[in-house]
Amino acid sequence: MGDYEELLKRGMKGVPSRETEVDRFEMPMFRVQKSGSRSVLVNFSEVADALRRDRKHLMKFLLKELATSGEAKGTCLEVQGVFSTDAVNKKLEKYVDSYVKCPECGKHDTNLVKEKGFFLLKCEVCGARESVGRV
Ligand SMILES: [Zn+2]
Repeated sequence: MGDYEELLKRGMKGVPSRETEVDRFEMPMFRVQKSGSRSVLVNFSEVADALRRDRKHLMKFLLKELATSGEAKGTCLEVQGVFSTDAVNKKLEKYVDSYVKCPECGKHDTNLVKEKGFFLLKCEVCGARESVGRV
């Protein structure tokens, strides 16, 4: 019986504990291509889907932050002006901080819902409900 317990202990060693488990969230990144005097976020809809956010909401935020105009074309977002990949992704980080990341537990498994004209960030992990400003 002692040997069996020893084996069991040894077997357990390779199993990572819950504490060391990392956040499953992977920050999506925009791929930006220059097109004349415009910049095209070629994987725009993919990023919005990965964040589980409304494309229009994300688009509105980006256009405001970049102080430009633009329009969705298929799965891309085309904006006026030349922006570097870095510059656009910095804005995306800001968006994630404001509208995706739970302010209570820091997880990204959240939903953005509109309630009585307000936007609420609801966390699926800890149940926090935070009102967030309009874009
Ligand atoms: Zn939370």
